[in-house]
Amino acid sequence: MDLGIATVDGFMRSFFGGVFLDRTLGTDFSQFQYIFSTFARGQTVVPALGMGEIPKQIAALLPAERIRLRAPVSSIARRGKSFAVRTANGNESLFDAVVLATDMSAAHALDPRINARAWCSNVTFYWACDVGRLPAPLHQPTLFLDGTGDGPVNHAACLSSVAPEYAPAGQSLIALNMVEVDWAAESMSSLTARMVVQMERWFGTGAMRGWRLLRMDRIVRALPRQHTADIHARPSTEIDDGMFVAGDHVTDGSIDGAVRSGTLASEAVLRWFNR
Ligand SMILES: Cc1cc2nc3c(=O)[nH]c(=O)nc-3n(C[C@H](O)[C@H](O)[C@H](O)COP(=O)(O)OP(=O)(O)OC[C@H]3O[C@@H](n4cnc5c(N)ncnc54)[C@H](O)[C@@H]3O)c2cc1C
Repeated sequence: MDLGIATVDGFMRSFFGGVFLDRTLGTDFSQFQYIFSTFARGQTVVPALGMGEIPKQIAALLPAERIRLRAPVSSIARRGKSFAVRTANGNESLFDAVVLATDMSAAHALDPRINARAWCSNVTFYWACDVGRLPAPLHQPTLFLDGTGDGPVNHAACLSSVAPEYAPAGQSLIALNMVEVDWAAESMSSLTARMVVQMERWFGTGAMRGWRLLRMDRIVRALPRQHTADIHARPSTEIDDGMFVAGDHVTDGSIDGAVRSGTLASEAVLRWFNR
């Protein structure tokens, strides 16, 4: 595919750099093709009640006694034909089959046969302001990209302009996202100062006047890196007789990938029980 340098650096690096949390654009081409096709086929949305609704609505389909919360698993060991699953509080239960559906690093810690690959990280600053203080372009449900690479913000959006449920009446919620922050070289105050300069460049003098910082989320293990070597290192769904793996590190780094991987694991478990 022949894409001009301006398209690659001005759009692809910031847009897909934000999707894959990797501005190197080193993500495997098959992964790029798949995600590109999902953007082409569907709408880009946020759940009105927040991301937490996805697991909540899936959990609501199951009887409550089938789910144990706040019970981190500390070990899984084969015990005869079963698996002994021990939780951090010392409780142990035996199961015929196990689906290990944690993040990549936790899965590796519980079973070193599952490769731990590199992570891509993300930093989001959430700001609030009175609607009247919001620069005009941010009233649109638009994703703003850093096509220059000057940073520090890679992409920005006013979430309450996308979904009004994200802020109380009369207020706006703005998310400023960074893919790479060199915390060794950058203090919070210098980062904030650079953010103000960048937003003034994008939206005019005083763009952030009256904005209040609500919180900063720094997620070091945000997405598994998805370079070609990482794709080849993905685990298969069934790693042992009765032992299955699910999660975005098995398929692709997205909610869709995690759900697809869960579906594959559940089908494999059914085949295993009916074998
Ligand atoms: C800021 C950010 C924005 C994102 N935006 C999008 C987006 O817009 N669209 C999209 O498709 N994807 C997005 N993603 C990626 C998406 O969130 C992940 O790909 C997806 O959540 C992975 O799901 P998972 O079930 O594989 O892992 P996780 O969501 O990490 O779930 C694993 C679960 O395992 C639990 N766990 C870990 N260790 C143990 C243990 N020892 N015992 C018991 N439980 C354990 C954890 O508490 C966690 O609940 C985003 C990610 C981030 C960080």
